[in-house]
This record gives sequence, C-alpha cells and structure tokens, in this order.
Amino acid sequence: MNRPEHGALIVFTGPSGVGKDTVLAALRELGYDFFLSISVTTRNPRPGEVESGAYRFLTKAEFEKLIADDALLEHAEYLGQYYGTPEQPVDRALSEGRNVILKIEVQGALQVRARRPDAVLVFLMPPSPEELERRLRKRGTETEEKIQKRLAASVRECAMADAFDYRVVSDVPELAAARLGEIITASRRK
Ligand code: 5GP
Repeated sequence: MNRPEHGALIVFTGPSGVGKDTVLAALRELGYDFFLSISVTTRNPRPGEVESGAYRFLTKAEFEKLIADDALLEHAEYLGQYYGTPEQPVDRALSEGRNVILKIEVQGALQVRARRPDAVLVFLMPPSPEELERRLRKRGTETEEKIQKRLAASVRECAMADAFDYRVVSDVPELAAARLGEIITASRRK
C-alpha cells in the first residue's frame, strides 16, 4: 500500500517575547516546509492580529464548547486567558506527511506529550533574563503591568525547560532555526 510518510509533530515552546516567530520565519527562509497550527484564544487581538490570521479569537463560551466537544489537542490558561490547539487540522496535516509545529506554552506542551508520545518537545531559551525583558519591551504591544506578568511567567516556564526533549538558545535567529531544522529532520527519521 502506498501510504504517505507521516509528518513529525513538533511542540515549540518558550517564554513570551523570546523570539519564536522570528525563529520560525528564519526556518521558512532556510527552505523548511511545515504546517503551523492556528491556535484559538479568548485574549483580545493586538492591532493587526485579526488580519494576520495567527489566531482565531473566540469568546469564552465558544472556547468552552470546543473543550466540551473534545476538539482541542491541548488547552491551557495563560495569564487569565484560554489558549488551545484545534486537533483536526493537526491530524490532517500529519497524515498528509507534513511536519506540524505547535507554538504553545509549557502546560499545553506537557499535555501534548501525554496525549501524543511521539511528539518532540523543543524549548526556546532566552540568552539571558535581561535580553528577554529587552525583547518584550521592544515589541511594544503590552502595558507595563502585562510585561511584568509575562516576565514572572517566563521564570516559571524556564524552570520547566529540562522536561523538554531539546533546548535551543534564541540567540542568532538563523542559527536557532538551523538547529530546529535539524531536530525536525531527525524526528522524521525516528
Ligand atoms: P500571546 O498572548 O503572546 O500570543 O501568547 C501567550 C502564550 O501562549 C505564548 O507562550 C504562546 O506560545 C502561547 N500559546 C499560543 N497559542 C497557544 C495554544 O494553542 N495553546 C497553548 N497551550 N499555548 C498557546
């Protein structure tokens, strides 16, 4: 039977502001094809975000319906808002042989590991706490209070990095992307 090879399921986690989007953009530049899961969330969109398609923005009731219907591969609460990964598009892409990347936070990552033991968990580490703070501020999208909450969350998140299969330092984006690309290629061969 001529079945397409299954893609690799990669969970890509790291504190808010560490540079996950930058590394994924660099990964595409390097020529890697992957399906980036579109998350659902109850948080408010930032300017331009609805159009960018990075998330589907839902009400709390809509989100809770997805949980009740068991339509999410994982979901977590982060700073008082729900975030989750719709399962169906992920499975479709994997069965088409595409590599799938979930850009999610730590609690969700550990849920994916429990539900999909074949998932490969990668943690993107900030070069230093000071550099993370600088990057969060540079983004300019959050209030001071939200920045402080995200920094406190990052300390909790980085403490969990040892539970991941791989840790990649978010220093030079092209180097981090190259390392992530190697991990994806190795995971596919497994
Ligand atoms: P932000 O509000 O900055 O877009 O995202 C906050 C955090 O939630 C980030 O660490 C981001 O990776 C994570 N996140 C985004 N989508 C999901 C998701 O579907 N599930 C989980 N568990 N976390 C997510």
